[in-house]
Amino acid sequence: MLIEKYELEVLTPPCEPGAERFTAVARLQTDIREVFPYLNATLRGAVYNPTAPAVTWTKGGHTVAFHPDRIAVSNVADRDAAIKEVDGLVKLVNRIWEQRDELTPDFVTHQRPTPMAVYKLLPGTNCKACGEPTCFTFALRLAAGQVQPEKCEPLWTDAYGEQREALLSLVEAGPGVAIGRAT
Ligand code: SF4
Repeated sequence: MLIEKYELEVLTPPCEPGAERFTAVARLQTDIREVFPYLNATLRGAVYNPTAPAVTWTKGGHTVAFHPDRIAVSNVADRDAAIKEVDGLVKLVNRIWEQRDELTPDFVTHQRPTPMAVYKLLPGTNCKACGEPTCFTFALRLAAGQVQPEKCEPLWTDAYGEQREALLSLVEAGPGVAIGRAT
């Protein structure tokens, strides 16, 4: 097990005094930088910065930052949510570390697609079936890794087969498996 112990901190972002959302930080006793290429190989949409080193990742409505000595997750509602999110991330890191012999580490920094590049491949009908008011709003969220392409139902009809394939190639340019899918 890579991370056996950590201390949890729940912080108000310094730029938002009085904010109702918090940032949770797990302070680690073990340096976890060796797992970063495996996180990069596994978490869909992760961005690996080998210089820092760090890995950032969007999970649902949270931005997650993995640093050698800490894991930070933004936009948590309260201490209970912080405990749940951080515990899940620690388990995720440990699981990926334990699976490393079966994974190919990825040392490449994959850039996220731009919202405009995503938007150009959507049907563009603003039908709202995905729950977003416009296709561009959906594109913003998809580019940020906050929603999955499957939420755009029209895209999965025969009429948009080529666009769908192009979009999947774009958003899945980095490797990714189910373990890392944002919900
Ligand atoms: S379901 Fe697809 S086509 Fe409809 S608004 Fe959402 S992104 Fe646009």
